[in-house]
Amino acid sequence: MNYRVLNKLTSLYFVAVMAIGVIYLALIWWVFVKTVPGTTMLLIYFLDSKRYGYDLASIGDMPWLWASLGLWLLSLVWLWKALVAGIKTVRKIMSTEKYVNGLKLLSRTGNKVRFDSASGEIFTAGMLHPTIYLASGLNKTHSNREIQAMIAHEENHVRMKDPLRTTLAMMVEKGLPSFPMKEKMFRYFMTLTELCADKSAEESLADGLPLITALYKKLQLSNRSLSAGINYFSSQSERIGILVGKKKLNWGMNMRLTSGVMVGLLVFTYVIIKSNFYSCPHLSLCLSALTSVLKIH
Ligand SMILES: [Zn+2]
Repeated sequence: MNYRVLNKLTSLYFVAVMAIGVIYLALIWWVFVKTVPGTTMLLIYFLDSKRYGYDLASIGDMPWLWASLGLWLLSLVWLWKALVAGIKTVRKIMSTEKYVNGLKLLSRTGNKVRFDSASGEIFTAGMLHPTIYLASGLNKTHSNREIQAMIAHEENHVRMKDPLRTTLAMMVEKGLPSFPMKEKMFRYFMTLTELCADKSAEESLADGLPLITALYKKLQLSNRSLSAGINYFSSQSERIGILVGKKKLNWGMNMRLTSGVMVGLLVFTYVIIKSNFYSCPHLSLCLSALTSVLKIH
């Protein structure tokens, strides 16, 4: 597949993943807001029964209030998970920035920076203005053609703003509750961004070999995990398999999986929106009743 087509499909996949994140966040916020009145009512019942000493037997006949409480607690857990995902992402971005700022820079040309390191490291970092970082020891570990291939690969990460895209996708993954094949769905996006960069490098050099040998070399070195805001030139045996033509991209399975998640989410949204939650016409009075002796219900 031509890398431009692959880039477009990857962008489409990214939009789908982001849409899932946005719909999910809106949905859990909606559930939280809609279940506040029922939960407040239940709390008032409990407090009033304590205050005035009346029987709680009738509370068993109000399943909608219990449903409100259950969904309210669930939405709290979901919102908390999403908030933690957001905070962790910001922290990761900050630690990546600290790492990059700590590098001893030797020179800068355009969007490329050479830094002092004996390692054969090359990566792209930066959320809004990505920069390619090349270790000074790269000449010793790789041939000129391999370096050219790796730079062409990183150039695609810069063009597509991959540090930002992968960071956002990772944040959505962390924020979503667990479901079957969730990890696979997000890992697929990461693989796609790497494959786009690989294909772009292959085309710009009109030769796929330097990239494959560079990837093999990376396999022998220890792999660094992907950090927020950084796209390392890391190795995945899956990518090598695809580049040498031994493996194929499983588009169908991943498209079905992502659309399945999207449809499931939309059905859930429809059910939630159509559900009749308990609505209190005088919620603010109810809330003030929680702190006063005023008895409304
Ligand atoms: Zn890459």
